[in-house]
Amino acid sequence: MEEKEKVLLARIPAVHQLAEELARKHPGHPEVFYTRAARKTAERLRREVLQGEREALDPEEIRRVAEEVLSGILRPHLRRVINATGVVVHTNLGRSPLAEEALEEILAVARGYSNLEYRLAEGRRGSRYEHVSGLLRELTGAEEALVVNNNAAAVLITLNTLARGREVIVSRGELVEIGGSFRMPEVMAWAGCVLREVGTTNRTHLRDYEAAINENTALLMKVHKSNYAIVGFTREVSGAELVALGRRYGLPVVEDLGSGCLVDFSRYGLRREPTVQEVVRSGVDVVTFSGDKLLGAPQAGIIVGRRELVERIRQNPLNRALRIDKLTLAGLEATLRLYLDEKLAVEKIPTLRLILKPPEKVRREARRLKNLLSRAGLPGFSFAVVPTVCRTGGGALPVADLPSYAVAVNSERFSAEELHERLRVGEPPVVGRIEEDRFLLEVRTIFPEEFPLVVKALKRLINHA
Ligand SMILES: *Cc1c(COP(=O)(O)O)cnc(C)c1O
Repeated sequence: MEEKEKVLLARIPAVHQLAEELARKHPGHPEVFYTRAARKTAERLRREVLQGEREALDPEEIRRVAEEVLSGILRPHLRRVINATGVVVHTNLGRSPLAEEALEEILAVARGYSNLEYRLAEGRRGSRYEHVSGLLRELTGAEEALVVNNNAAAVLITLNTLARGREVIVSRGELVEIGGSFRMPEVMAWAGCVLREVGTTNRTHLRDYEAAINENTALLMKVHKSNYAIVGFTREVSGAELVALGRRYGLPVVEDLGSGCLVDFSRYGLRREPTVQEVVRSGVDVVTFSGDKLLGAPQAGIIVGRRELVERIRQNPLNRALRIDKLTLAGLEATLRLYLDEKLAVEKIPTLRLILKPPEKVRREARRLKNLLSRAGLPGFSFAVVPTVCRTGGGALPVADLPSYAVAVNSERFSAEELHERLRVGEPPVVGRIEEDRFLLEVRTIFPEEFPLVVKALKRLINHA
């Protein structure tokens, strides 16, 4: 070892000393974080000195490295990321961002006690479902409503209650896999039902359902084709046709709507999707859908339909295992309230706002982000606004494309892959996408207040490379 290295190594303080200093300057965290940060700092400095990467080492620099290491350790594992993918309802990125109104209610309920299962006026036990069932009845027109942990749970408990040990008839064209192991045939099996597939992948007729009905049939079921479309020579039986068939044989019809929206998107120039209200009006007996897809609420599974059936589902002992928690209920109630006035819903619920943002507005925002980046003094980088196509995602409007704009990032130093990877692990993490060897920041899903953070993330990437 050279003399210079020995001198530098001797300047690295003892771990306990470094840990004490960090604890003094940044109090309030578990002890173990300070020792861990001190040990990592010492190891990192020693390695850098031995690899000849350090010409000097003063206390100021040691403190800077230690604080950087500590801030990494203090960062929560689950944290905010910037969604520059353009997919609005992105399951891996937490699906729906919540409206301010929802956040406020969640905070208020989380901070203290609440009337979760208590009727204040009567001073006796109440039910957690009462907080949203009235709103859901009003918004969907259904007789009764129930909420559970997520839509997978809603489907599971509905099938288990109404068809355990009996047959459920489903079209082969609707035996979906949603991803994350939600596959309709498997859910049927876990619910204790026997799946009766009818028709073919591309064509199912009403007579196929009718021919499969026997004394052990419990339900006719329809599943929304969330993440794919069957095009070409196709035939699908509508909910209304199934309802007519079900009535003739005394069989309830259940529809898993997947995303389930309360707003008619065709009024805003997007592809038409049946709303929950329409499906209820068509006579379908039980409808299930997600809280955190197109609805833009927290994760939840919503079950609406005929009173007698929903009541039986509520009483299923599984309901206790699948039940919704109070924070979700608080956020869901606040979000549903906004739907009482559609103008408020599309203005204040981020998921709706992002989907319905006109392409021209996205373009203006893209120009603004591009200008911020161009003026940030990032050497070797250039930026351009490019037209793109985004997706709604989350098993909604599966084949509907949203015309949009992105900022393409071009660098002399980093490939598109490198940019993609380094921004993902940066601070804050930015998840973009690559198209035709170009790294894109899709602007539709970046909130304008996040633009300075995107600039910061790119600056850090250059400084840390
Ligand atoms: C998304 C989806 C589900 C699962 O809903 P979660 O809320 O994610 O549990 C079930 N069925 C369909 C058709 C879906 O699109």
